[in-house]
Amino acid sequence: MTTQHFAIFGHPIAHSLSPRIHAAFAQQTGIAMDYVAIDADPDAFVPALQKFADRGGRGANITVPHKVAAMPLCDVLSERAHRAGAVNTVIREADGWRGDNTDGAGLVRDLTGRQQHDLRGRRALLLGAGGAAAGIAPALLDAGIRELVIVNRTPERADALADAQRDPARVHTRYWNDLGTLGNFDLIVNATSAARSSGKLALPFSLGYPNTLAVDLGYGDAAVDFLAWARSAGCSDTIDGLGMLVEQAAESFELWHGVRPQTDPVYVLLRERNSVLVNAD
Ligand code: NDP
Repeated sequence: MTTQHFAIFGHPIAHSLSPRIHAAFAQQTGIAMDYVAIDADPDAFVPALQKFADRGGRGANITVPHKVAAMPLCDVLSERAHRAGAVNTVIREADGWRGDNTDGAGLVRDLTGRQQHDLRGRRALLLGAGGAAAGIAPALLDAGIRELVIVNRTPERADALADAQRDPARVHTRYWNDLGTLGNFDLIVNATSAARSSGKLALPFSLGYPNTLAVDLGYGDAAVDFLAWARSAGCSDTIDGLGMLVEQAAESFELWHGVRPQTDPVYVLLRERNSVLVNAD
């Protein structure tokens, strides 16, 4: 059986869990593949992906800071990559790369499947407007949330993300300084990378109430501050991004191999080691 080559491109990427997740999926499904982490800074990303393709690379995950830069490198984009304006998965086709985005599907599958939450009808607050926020916004809307309020440190990026959803009846933006005037939310998603830069988020407790589901896309140490804030704000459920990480990986794996791996054993294994995890998709 020929070994197929896969990779994740990011910067930094050394702490990525994706190689471990995909190795576990490969073992479980009996697929002969390798999956390596390739550190490429923004100047090196395009030639590095080309070199990978030239050497027979069949597919890759793309993470911070290359998710937007990967868009024009793809000859074909899935509808969800289009709507996200960001690519986290590329698949090698005869003529070039096909780009997709599995972040949103991964989050929704974790919340509604593993965690058994119904997202329909929820009033949702999305903190952040970067690549991850762009990936999950369309999926949350498709999952039936009632309203999506996007708040970002740089307000213009929130506006651009809201406009891209083409759903003005449900999607609105507000300024960070006005968070205290917005009332409470049924779902609050922290899609900022503040914890990575040791920046503390200033969030009023009025955003939460006992029915709030609070989700941090980060995990390990990176999720500690936000989830502690959420509990102090009275949110009944707090979830980190580990389940999303495993689910978005499974979604990518299925795109490459046509086989859906079982995610629970991998999730449980990583959860057991959660105390030593470093946040890096
Ligand atoms: P980006 O760099 O694309 O975006 C970062 C976002 O965070 C921007 O909205 C930025 O605001 C905001 N931000 C950064 N620092 C601060 C701060 N101090 N205060 C307020 N806002 C801040 O990153 P991604 O969107 O790709 O990733 C965001 C998070 O999601 C990361 O923690 C990442 O690990 C996690 N993630 C998890 C995944 C999973 O599967 N669990 C998958 C993908 C991401 P501004 O626009 O003003 O710069």
